[in-house]
Amino acid sequence: ARPVRVVVLGAGSWGTTVAGLAAHNTPTLLWARNSDTADEINNEHRNSRYLGDRPLPDSMRSTAEIVEAAHEADVLVVGVPSHAVRSTLAQIANEVRAWVPVLSLAKGLEPGTRLRPTEVIAECLPGHPVGLLAGPNIAREIVDGLAAASVVATQDVRVATALQPLFASAVFRVYRNTDVLGCELGGVLKNIVAIASGMADGLDVGDNTRAMVLARGLAEMTRLGEAMGANPRTFAGLTGVGDLIATCMSPSSRNRRVGEYIARGMTVDEAVAKLGQVAEGVKTAPTVMELARDYNVEMPIAAEVEAVVAGRQTPEGAYRGLRKVAAGGEH
Ligand code: 13P
Repeated sequence: ARPVRVVVLGAGSWGTTVAGLAAHNTPTLLWARNSDTADEINNEHRNSRYLGDRPLPDSMRSTAEIVEAAHEADVLVVGVPSHAVRSTLAQIANEVRAWVPVLSLAKGLEPGTRLRPTEVIAECLPGHPVGLLAGPNIAREIVDGLAAASVVATQDVRVATALQPLFASAVFRVYRNTDVLGCELGGVLKNIVAIASGMADGLDVGDNTRAMVLARGLAEMTRLGEAMGANPRTFAGLTGVGDLIATCMSPSSRNRRVGEYIARGMTVDEAVAKLGQVAEGVKTAPTVMELARDYNVEMPIAAEVEAVVAGRQTPEGAYRGLRKVAAGGEH
């Protein structure tokens, strides 16, 4: 049989990295919005804007033609930011063959609709099996060949079982989970705690305070997830506490860096401009607070982060507020 062809949409740091993982296993095509990026990947086997000089597999191909890319897909991976999933898929709504499974890489919510990326995908590409790949996966470490683990979450375990070997390697272990909601929310919600962790770095509040914010941040992630119907145990795994730790600690996390820049005196706009990439937590924080109100769940850390990114609160003020989290009620 001919090999399964993987098509990845979005040549940012993570889309490029996942295409590189797949390219070691099977023919893989990466759609880049920008044709210079596609040319650089094809000719020089690197993506300098997002991954510096790190070499990408020679076998990985790239194109700026999204319709042609969609026609090739036996498996479609959506690696664009959450707010761009709908407009990207609208360009290929009738171009993807029936039954092709679609995996999301995005860790945010669609502004306005509050939908998770897998829900947006299901609306745009009805009838396709939809799932996600998530975990503590800092892109540049994976391109550098450092060991990591991730989770493919799909409602039907047979779909995840079929997709696992496309991305796995000796140093990239891929697990399965059927709690799509819990796995997806873990990736979404940890970004907000990571902004708080970055503010902790910028303010030098100390590691005890930061650990408090991580632990209580995990508690509020789990509370919201459970209220929405996720398995609370999912938040104790790779896509929950695992991704929370990686993102809150990593010097290269975009969300952590935005928090640090703001705490060192930049406005939110200046911090986002300096980053030059999307930090999903900035856009997601207000949407998460809407969900917290709808589900009547207390999220004091997300509330402080949302107030900072909306310009209603200073990082110093936020950390004064967060100290009250420690004095809070039942653990
Ligand atoms: P950032 O978007 O903050 O870089 O998060 C990286 C990540 O999700 C690692 O798993």
